[in-house]
Amino acid sequence: MPEGTFATAITCMDGRVQRPVQLWAKEHFGVDYIDTITEPGVDLLLTEHLIWQDDKIKGRVDISVNRHGSRQIVLVGHHDCAGNPVSEEEHREMIKKSVETILSWNFGVRVVGLWISESWQPEVVVDITPEN
Ligand SMILES: [Zn+2]
Repeated sequence: MPEGTFATAITCMDGRVQRPVQLWAKEHFGVDYIDTITEPGVDLLLTEHLIWQDDKIKGRVDISVNRHGSRQIVLVGHHDCAGNPVSEEEHREMIKKSVETILSWNFGVRVVGLWISESWQPEVVVDITPEN
């Protein structure tokens, strides 16, 4: 394992969300580093279960959890997303479904679904720690 503590962010590639996600995750997870997995509109990808996308993202999470010791994952959806241009309500539903997808991978770590608002403020949608 490397020096320092890690958590994992699965987020949109949009440059506007990276700093709020990093700051939120470091503060709330109390870790040194955030491993960041980016895809455009990732809350849509993990809702629709496009198999190759799921496997690609799962493989990256595996490195963060099993090589860096991450025990916490944050999944992010955001306002004005070019990769997933739907309403806030639809984003929030997709964030919940994406968190279920991530939990189904059985890494046994906490998964938080985060919404980044129009003012780029993070808001927790769902926060689940699996019992095991
Ligand atoms: Zn986006």
